[in-house]
Amino acid sequence: MNKLNDAIVNLKVEKNQIAFYFFGGSTIAIKNHEGTILYVDPCFSNSANEILSPLDYIKTDWKRLIEIPIEPEDVTADLVVCTHDHLDHYDVYTIPGIDKQSKPIFIGPSSCHYKLREQKIDEKRIVVLNPGNKKVVKGYEIEAFAADHTPDCIGFVLTYDGIRSCIIPEAKYSDTLKDRIISLKPVDLLFIGANEKYGAITPEEGAGIVCGLEPNIAIPVHYGLYAETHLDPQTFVDAVKETCGEKNIKTKILNFKETPFIYKK
Ligand SMILES: [Zn+2]
Repeated sequence: MNKLNDAIVNLKVEKNQIAFYFFGGSTIAIKNHEGTILYVDPCFSNSANEILSPLDYIKTDWKRLIEIPIEPEDVTADLVVCTHDHLDHYDVYTIPGIDKQSKPIFIGPSSCHYKLREQKIDEKRIVVLNPGNKKVVKGYEIEAFAADHTPDCIGFVLTYDGIRSCIIPEAKYSDTLKDRIISLKPVDLLFIGANEKYGAITPEEGAGIVCGLEPNIAIPVHYGLYAETHLDPQTFVDAVKETCGEKNIKTKILNFKETPFIYKK
């Protein structure tokens, strides 16, 4: 049992609303008014630090910046989406832990499918979602597009109750990527990793995408979980203000864990 997980399970979401909890990195829990809980890139362990930091030659710092909010075995999830197979998105300790209790449906590109099989996840609960695929799972429509990071890394648009959320945790910028994202219009919420680490989208490039896509609210992700990939999210917020100017697009820095962000259409 875990207090935070209980709070998510007990949260009542009204019709035409959708709730988001943010746990640092690109770990997000999403709940709709039917009560279906979907996790994105859940990282509830210290795997990156334990596995990557001891490798001398990498010389990186994968210490967690926030404590583990829920142990994987205590997570209640109906669906889990992994965007790609890097440890800070597909957490090899968290996935089997969540699987043990919740038995959710796991969704992700072929590289994640491979890992899920390796970890002996029941094939019947795996949905392969490669760039260009669109699936409806437990009422959520999930449309994946190429995120140009690993060979099959995805971003996706999650649609429920007419609310469209575009979630792109990690990608390498190009004008083609920008056009691809802008073609997803209209979008209510954009969750974007723009932390410039490991060749990812920079805050300025992210701001350019925001100006073109014109979401109702732009929300930075992919910070605050590991020292190695952290960048102050205010940098992105400032860049949006500066780049989009008179378009006056709203931005929001999410609180960690306890307080859900509830979006109303
Ligand atoms: Zn990655």
